[in-house]
Amino acid sequence: MARIGFIGLGNMGLPMAENLMKAGHAVTGFDLVKASVGKLAVAGGTAATSVAQACDGAEMVITMLPAGSHVRDAYLGEDGIVASAAAEALLIDSSTIDVETARTIAAAAVAKGLMMVDAPVSGGIAGAQGATLTFMVGGEEAAFARAEPILSAMGKTVVHAGGAGNGQAAKICNNLILGVTMIAVSEAFVLAEKLGLEPQKLFDIASKSSGQCWSLTSYCPVPGPVPTSPANRDYRAGFTAAMMLKDLKLAQDVARATRATSPLGAGAAAVYQAFIDNADGNAGVDFSGIIRFLRESTH
Ligand code: NAD
Repeated sequence: MARIGFIGLGNMGLPMAENLMKAGHAVTGFDLVKASVGKLAVAGGTAATSVAQACDGAEMVITMLPAGSHVRDAYLGEDGIVASAAAEALLIDSSTIDVETARTIAAAAVAKGLMMVDAPVSGGIAGAQGATLTFMVGGEEAAFARAEPILSAMGKTVVHAGGAGNGQAAKICNNLILGVTMIAVSEAFVLAEKLGLEPQKLFDIASKSSGQCWSLTSYCPVPGPVPTSPANRDYRAGFTAAMMLKDLKLAQDVARATRATSPLGAGAAAVYQAFIDNADGNAGVDFSGIIRFLRESTH
């Protein structure tokens, strides 16, 4: 059993923390939203009122925060994790952020004698709830070895992707695929509707054909074929359109920096940007809600 501080108890963090408790670990959690901390306490965790308090005495500190700026503040701020973590603590950031920030924070942690890995995830809230996430981990071998059993309590696949920041590199590439395929699947359903083809029929055929992909078979953007997908609850997130856009922008930034070509990634980022700009509230809609935008857009 480990004493774990968990910071960021949102759509992903809360169910991940709950799975750690189910595996027998003691979790002290903090979130800026008090109600989320309350939910952790109801599930058997300990409520903390600050980042520093969540770190107090923890052998491991896990973060699941929205974006790079939040992660930087939580780790490097006054009374942040690097300043507050116990000596010998292992730090695990599972947020999706840019590679450079991940490497900067890892270097600051190591300079203080702490071990750190970046360990972003794939699998969505269903994966977080069911402890079936995929973790892609960047960091030293010894840090990975310590992190692996803890991550296994929250996921079913844990891959060491290389040194610090490489977990984030893998995640950004994965989500480039996700953003593009969600738009492609949504375009196909909208076209099918216009052609008089039932959505369920397209699903039955494409899920067994070369169009098969996660966006179709695990997160179908039309209601019906995949009962757990956000389409069945009016596109309540899930994984917000704002976060999808964040990840597509991260991919574009590094594509530019490394002179990699990414025309479909650029197109996907533009489509999500237009979706978010189109109406108040779209940023918080699940990213599969892009289908509504595509349906309403006409040439
Ligand atoms: P979320 O917005 O639901 O949760 C983030 C939480 O962090 C919020 O509850 C917020 O209050 C809290 N927070 C922000 N700053 C804080 C701080 N300084 N201290 C304490 N708490 C703070 O986001 P989410 O959907 O859980 O996603 C978290 C991360 O996981 C993101 O980086 C996202 O890209 C990634 N991710 C999400 C999904 C998904 O399906 N939702 C899937 C894979 C990866």
